[in-house]
Amino acid sequence: MHPALQRLVDANDDLERAERALEAAQEQRRQCARDLAQIEDQSERVSAAVFAYHRFGKGLSLALAEAVTGLPGKKGQSAFLVLAGRMQYQPRGHGAGGGGEPSEPMTEWPAPDECEREIIRAHIAHGRDYWIDRGLGWGCLRTSLRPPEAAAYLKDATGALAGHFGLSREAFVEWLSSCGSVGCEGRNKDATRCKSSVAGRTVQLDVEDWKVAVERGGYCRRHGGDPDYDPRAVRRAHAHSASR
Ligand SMILES: [Zn+2]
Repeated sequence: MHPALQRLVDANDDLERAERALEAAQEQRRQCARDLAQIEDQSERVSAAVFAYHRFGKGLSLALAEAVTGLPGKKGQSAFLVLAGRMQYQPRGHGAGGGGEPSEPMTEWPAPDECEREIIRAHIAHGRDYWIDRGLGWGCLRTSLRPPEAAAYLKDATGALAGHFGLSREAFVEWLSSCGSVGCEGRNKDATRCKSSVAGRTVQLDVEDWKVAVERGGYCRRHGGDPDYDPRAVRRAHAHSASR
């Protein structure tokens, strides 16, 4: 055999060995995932499986579901994914997650990754609300989406959240990228917009307080703003009178 052909034959043997090794490693990992069933304490078992799911992602949800629920197949998997979604937002006890809060203000809501998409689809299939609880670096966004909203969130996360809060996409992005601040509507001497922070507590507002503050408009102290104005108090008062 010509040495060049021999090298190709050898390279092919190497590849086949590597593929067999990969398959064996994957099967071993699945078996280890199923072995989580050996953890006797139920809440420890569930949180171990959810941790593994978020850490190792695709290809393990069936085995993990089996370990947690004892049910084989899709039924256990779907129930497990709903559980994983619910537990995702608990304080993380395993030092998992990776990433954490972004340091730059966002200009788009990040699209869900494949793990999260799978969880959202399981919530939709079960007719359950999907919880979002995300740190933004300067604040956080906590809300729950009804199944139809969650379906829209899968297609366009930014647009779906904007709609959920009754904001236009542009307004929602402005809230995100301004870190929840509202700029003064007054004009400078050169007719440009002042944009100083509005008197009262108008930085790092959560999205619903921000919406109230924007609807009211406002002015900085220099432009005659009311220093006692607090959109959070306005919204609370509003919610209170509406609930009567
Ligand atoms: Zn101003």
